[in-house]
Amino acid sequence: MKKALVFLLIAAIILSSACANSDKKSVSFFAYDTTVSLTFYGKRVKDAFLNECIDYIKSFETHFSMTDEDSELYKLNKERSMEVSDTLLECIKSALSYCELTNGAFDITLGTVNRLWNVTERKLPPTQAEIDEARQNTGHEYIEITDNRVTIQKEGLKIDLSGFAKGYVADKFREYLKEKGIDSGVLLVMGGAVTCIGRKSATEENFKVGIVNPYDKSNLLTTLDISNSNVSTSGTSERYFEYEGVRYHHIMNPHTGAPVQNDIEQVTVICYDAAMGDALSTAFFVMGLNKARALIENELEGVGAVFAMKNGEIIYVNYVVD
Ligand code: ADP
Ligand code: MG
Repeated sequence: MKKALVFLLIAAIILSSACANSDKKSVSFFAYDTTVSLTFYGKRVKDAFLNECIDYIKSFETHFSMTDEDSELYKLNKERSMEVSDTLLECIKSALSYCELTNGAFDITLGTVNRLWNVTERKLPPTQAEIDEARQNTGHEYIEITDNRVTIQKEGLKIDLSGFAKGYVADKFREYLKEKGIDSGVLLVMGGAVTCIGRKSATEENFKVGIVNPYDKSNLLTTLDISNSNVSTSGTSERYFEYEGVRYHHIMNPHTGAPVQNDIEQVTVICYDAAMGDALSTAFFVMGLNKARALIENELEGVGAVFAMKNGEIIYVNYVVD
């Protein structure tokens, strides 16, 4: 639960509504190793429905957890080849499409590398020999999919969906609500990802999503005016240890098998699709500003980003703040 509090502090801040007559209903719970909060604005929401929503959001954990021995993904990593559920299949396929799009900067096959670094527990970096060995056991080309059968063709390779599952679940939740006739006035915050469903209220008010200043967490870097979109932030200031002046954080460079060391402090991605935002915020961090900019400008539609650089510069790419 200590972790939950930490993540609550670092999660992007939602500015509370100044509108006195907007009734809202909120709930927070712990899932996907982070604090999740769900708010309905301007609607009468029964507790029973709120509980159904929580159950729905949590239900995917039994598929996607890499560490829970009862999860489907855990079994796949152990069995190496098995028929998986449509849910896990869809998530893996979607995640792999971002591995390809980002030329491997986003990589769900880094499980062994991520586990080796285990940055929330470690005090010292692993040895280069350990890193080299873990790095051997990666590569999205080693995942073979035939119908519902997923096969991991490299010994020691483990699939890790932690950098993607929350976004995937947020998109699913949006579909779930739509089927129930709700397509506005809902905000879902999962760790560093904020999904705004529709507009905040019938008066067409946008959500105000604050991006936490990574250099001074009690302040905001900027506030975004958002509706029907998702804001995902990846940074180094959440999960890390420091050793001899170097910050070893949780975003790995697939080429080195070690935490990314570059001039970026934090990346925020704004786009409709939460899964895409989750993958791209991690990928842009790995790729660096110039490659990320080229991808946004040449290959992506409707994706904006805010880069907080280590030198204090804030760079907006394809996003204009009023
Ligand atoms: P972030 O806000 O930084 O995107 P996430 O929780 O979405 O945070 O993803 C971070 C997790 O993704 C890490 O803890 C690790 O399990 C995994 N991960 C680390 N590096 C990569 C990478 N290059 N590609 C995909 N997943 C990664
Ligand atoms: Mg991510």
